[in-house]
Amino acid sequence: MSDQKPNPYKIAQDQMLRAAEISGLPPAITSILSQPKNELIVNFPVRMDSGEYRLFKGYRVQHSNILGPYKGGIRYHEQVSLDEVKALASWMTYKCALHDIPFGGGKGGIKFNPREFSAGELERITRRFTHALGSNIGPDYDIPAPDVGTNGQIMVWMMDTYMAGVGSSDKTSSRGVVTGKTLSAGGSHGREAATGQGIVHCITEWARDRRVDLNGASFSVQGFGNVGSNASKILARTGASLVATGDWKGYIFNGDGINPFKLTEHVGRTGTVVGYPGARTITREEFFATAVDIFIPAALELEIGIPEAKALNCKLIVEGANGPTDTAAEPYLYEKNIALIPDILANSGGVVVSYYEWLQNKRSERWDLEEVEERLAKRMKRTYLAVSEYAAMKKCDWRSAAMCIGIERIGRAYAERGIFP
Ligand code: NAD
Repeated sequence: MSDQKPNPYKIAQDQMLRAAEISGLPPAITSILSQPKNELIVNFPVRMDSGEYRLFKGYRVQHSNILGPYKGGIRYHEQVSLDEVKALASWMTYKCALHDIPFGGGKGGIKFNPREFSAGELERITRRFTHALGSNIGPDYDIPAPDVGTNGQIMVWMMDTYMAGVGSSDKTSSRGVVTGKTLSAGGSHGREAATGQGIVHCITEWARDRRVDLNGASFSVQGFGNVGSNASKILARTGASLVATGDWKGYIFNGDGINPFKLTEHVGRTGTVVGYPGARTITREEFFATAVDIFIPAALELEIGIPEAKALNCKLIVEGANGPTDTAAEPYLYEKNIALIPDILANSGGVVVSYYEWLQNKRSERWDLEEVEERLAKRMKRTYLAVSEYAAMKKCDWRSAAMCIGIERIGRAYAERGIFP
């Protein structure tokens, strides 16, 4: 699949157009949302440890700020492209609008493989990129966060570089220029695990509604990074068992269960799930065909094409990754009665807690973990219910229902504000 993936921006646009038709969004708003407001590409040189200079290509796409500052992650991956970043930025717009969070949508990235660089090189790449973005980011304008290949440390380097360019009296107030920071640099309790936690809230709501007992259920996870590993560890508390997982290097299986805590330690040491002593290696094809109750894609977009959809043998797909499912593959899932909780709902715990981090930075507050978790649980459950009720009311799929709720909020904002001049 990965060699002939469809264009992710075309997929994102098709999803939006389908939702626009269901909700009767005015054509003018549909056309505004069909393109991002700003697309920025920067090429910048960085000194490598060898003393040589290398040129990097970075992106920041600002899709919409009608509901608040642009918000969205920064990805470090060799497949980053303008259309990928455009798709990811637009999904951020709909995700924030779905939750009624006062943020818009943005996304960025650098096209390179971070595993091939030293910590010092990663720091210089991050700082030069942030410098190149200049005033195109800001705590009330555009707020990056971690995504694939980036983490709290990268966010702290971004914040520190941004701060170096503002006046002394603005330093404290500019901490909120990025979220997903480490705790000591102004991050929030609960942010690192928030996306995984949000996924598990969706699963427990689904299981409660369908009277499914999670204790003894099985699940598989594609991608064992921030999202995949945290979702696995939190879901394991319900008594559900991780039986298959995989990452950039390969896939592993153990029908008796894989301990997600020990696997996280193994990945921390080796950089991959492959070679974990408590499981055997399987192929990507075997991974997708593994019989489980729940499948959580938590790697890259468009990993579920038609062959994967035909192979999948599960009751529920919870989209931890953004855009993991090709539109053409969806009918094959519905034919098999596989339920699907879409990305903009399933993985939204991350941006919800990013919003809490941003609020804490603005108010110079530190909320304790219980408070963050309680607020996240309440918001996830409320939004989950709203999506399920909308889907039942309009008799539509959950992806369209979630998108409709988001674009209708955006539509109302445009209707009241009008379009200048
Ligand atoms: P990460 O870098 O921590 O982990 C990514 C995982 O995917 C790694 O295990 C990596 O090895 C694996 N991977 C990469 N290429 C792969 C390939 N070709 N095949 C199989 N596996 C591959 O990133 P993350 O933050 O966990 O993000 C994962 C997904 O979740 C992305 O789609 C991201 O946009 C989405 N997401 C992340 C957050 C967040 O808070 N970090 C929030 C919402 C959505």
